[in-house]
Amino acid sequence: MPSLTFLGAARTVTGSKYLLEVNSSRVLVDCGLFQGLKELRLRNWQPLPVPAESIGAVVLTHAHIDHSGFLPRLFAEGFRGRVFCTPGTADLCGIVLPDAGRLAEEDAREANRHGYSKHAPALPLFTEADAMNVLPRLQPVGYDRPVPVAPDVTVSFTSAGHLLGSAFAALDLSVNGGRQRRVLFSGDIGRYDRPVLPDPSSVDEADVLLVESTYGDRRHDPDDDGERLAGIVRDTVERGGKVIIPAFAIGRVEEIIYWLKRLEEARRIPVVPVFLDSPMAVEALKHYGRRSNELDPDMQGSRGDLSSFMTRRFQTVATARRSMELVDSRIPAVVISSSGMATGGRVLNHLRAALPNSRNTVLFSGYQAAGTRGRRLVDGEREVKIHGDLVPVNARIEQLHSMSAHADSEELLRWLGGFRRAPAKTFVVHGEPETADVFAATVRQRLGWQVQVPEYLDQAELP
Ligand SMILES: [Zn+2]
Repeated sequence: MPSLTFLGAARTVTGSKYLLEVNSSRVLVDCGLFQGLKELRLRNWQPLPVPAESIGAVVLTHAHIDHSGFLPRLFAEGFRGRVFCTPGTADLCGIVLPDAGRLAEEDAREANRHGYSKHAPALPLFTEADAMNVLPRLQPVGYDRPVPVAPDVTVSFTSAGHLLGSAFAALDLSVNGGRQRRVLFSGDIGRYDRPVLPDPSSVDEADVLLVESTYGDRRHDPDDDGERLAGIVRDTVERGGKVIIPAFAIGRVEEIIYWLKRLEEARRIPVVPVFLDSPMAVEALKHYGRRSNELDPDMQGSRGDLSSFMTRRFQTVATARRSMELVDSRIPAVVISSSGMATGGRVLNHLRAALPNSRNTVLFSGYQAAGTRGRRLVDGEREVKIHGDLVPVNARIEQLHSMSAHADSEELLRWLGGFRRAPAKTFVVHGEPETADVFAATVRQRLGWQVQVPEYLDQAELP
């Protein structure tokens, strides 16, 4: 009997990791980091329930760190198989994994220097060198090209519309003398009718389905053609302030600057400097330019460079020194910097300087996981801790759900509606507990499917 063990993203939105065991093969689907609540982050330090060297292959749905960021650690623990993913995912992993290692090392150094870690000395979960070690294991596979990944296991990817390279991973298993079973991992599901990324492709069958539920109990605001973003930029610039946009360096930045350019061209916002203060985001943007054939029809034929994204006063910020000059600058501007949930990175310096002043606006563009600084800010906390100091919050805090890269409940149902028959089993994953329960109930009610919400470390036998 094949089995599935839920090693992450079960009743939470981070740490995606599912261990699939078929005959003698072990395949790990996604290999993400836990983020947010400390209780979750501590799981990053725990050994996996099976030895890393016993895992034959990894399959990645996309490059976001909560789906890929545990790879360096897996390699350090002895994994030596291949990591199957789309070429776009391989490109982006080449940026995010070394960066995550660098960040972990920097955080550990900072913590040691200021003595604000309870651990002495604080150690990084993995290093940049660990990340570089695992990159040669990446094995790019194009969309719609089935390839064997381990004995009795074949993977094929179709586009998920959530991020460059993002995919639904269909794992076809041969069990007991040739009986075929298909397990479909949704990864993160993108949205319909949005710019930059294509619609999620439709999937019509699977015996077992794992479906994400990040926004499973919510509807996104209806598309307002960028009006709320325009209003926020206009008001903040009028007050003489900055708009600080913490953004996932890969994924959200492209859509934000796409909108800023469109609004500026339509003269719906004033021409102000737009700074992209994230070397990683700049690199990712170049990949978007190069792979424009994989993007939404509105991006086809863009020239393979940054120009299709650039506003008139668009600037990238390369060095840390230049970034600190920008932190100190009082000129009205839009500053896009990562990380997206304000858990680390250069955006912390911007927030530390901008939060105390009511002139400024902090605009969150993506999902804010429980326990993150971003979540505390959108929940209205009046002060937050940054680098060990309490920083008062006087700036306006805004959140644009409409810029989310995740399907909302109706879009998830629309995608499920593409199935020609109900999967024998559906697991609702990648959602906070209540959200996952609400979405599971909705799927039962609307589609009549067999649905379960697994717990962390649950093991399920597959039909
Ligand atoms: Zn994602």
